Amino acid sequence: MLVIRTIADLRERIAVARAQQLRVGFVPTMGALHAGHVSLVTRASIECDMTVVSVFVNPKQFDNAADLSAYPRTESSDAALLQQAGVDILFVPTTNEMYPNGFTTTIDVGPITLPLEGATRGAHHFHGVATVVLKLLNIVQPDAVYFGQKDAQQLLVIRQLVRDLNVPVEIIACDTVRDADGLAISSRNVRLTMAARAQALGLSSALFHMREMVMHGERQPEAVVRGGRNVLAAFGIAESAIDYLAVVNPHTLLPLSEFKSSVLMAVAAHIDGVRLIDNIIVQLAAKAVA
Ligand code: AMP
Repeated sequence: MLVIRTIADLRERIAVARAQQLRVGFVPTMGALHAGHVSLVTRASIECDMTVVSVFVNPKQFDNAADLSAYPRTESSDAALLQQAGVDILFVPTTNEMYPNGFTTTIDVGPITLPLEGATRGAHHFHGVATVVLKLLNIVQPDAVYFGQKDAQQLLVIRQLVRDLNVPVEIIACDTVRDADGLAISSRNVRLTMAARAQALGLSSALFHMREMVMHGERQPEAVVRGGRNVLAAFGIAESAIDYLAVVNPHTLLPLSEFKSSVLMAVAAHIDGVRLIDNIIVQLAAKAVA
């Protein structure tokens, strides 16, 4: 595995792969890698001839400086994990390489950025995500890019961006990887104490309970959200700690007044100072996927 730190070096390497008509797969990450990231990387290396992973903690998508500085940075263990997973190139740019003096562009993808994460973290968050992802796609120019369903709104934002700006890349969405007890794996989980981790299980438990309610015929969105809130409360998660618990249209993220073919159930909450998100998509006619 090659570790590359500059855009110029990366372009040079990828040009060689292109000349050989290799299919290039790309997995953008912020590091502190775990089994969720590995699932994306593994899929990319199965489906592509060359796999590129970026590790860049993007300052533009953080809404508060404390969260940015507390974000775990584990470059050497990340590199070992990626090497083991068969990655060809690890791209680790500095902040200055990505945002040199004089950088001013911001990508605003529009309405899909506004609810849920946008409403609680501010428009700034998805501006930062869209800007860095478009930059990375322009730098790597992959055939396929892999994203986790764990960040459901981010995936929709990227789909909109790629569609609107005719970015020539195939977007591959990968299922959320969970610990055996259901907790969605996240780089932030390492910051949870044992007690906080037990409480964090309330998020997936609430979503699974909401899915059960729908599977058993509940068709009132408010009743389903109430059911989920009761589960969060049972895990000791206070109302004030919940950023949102919502059932929305999985394509538009708009609130549902009635259930139709599928529904996205999404939650964000602060557990002992750590902000966690999770979601599931429930297909009403068929089985649920997470
Ligand atoms: P991050 O490093 O948090 O920016 O995540 C990089 C990519 O990994 C994003 O596409 C995430 O959606 C994805 N990802 C993070 N956690 C998981 C997970 N538990 N399961 C699947 N994909 C994930």
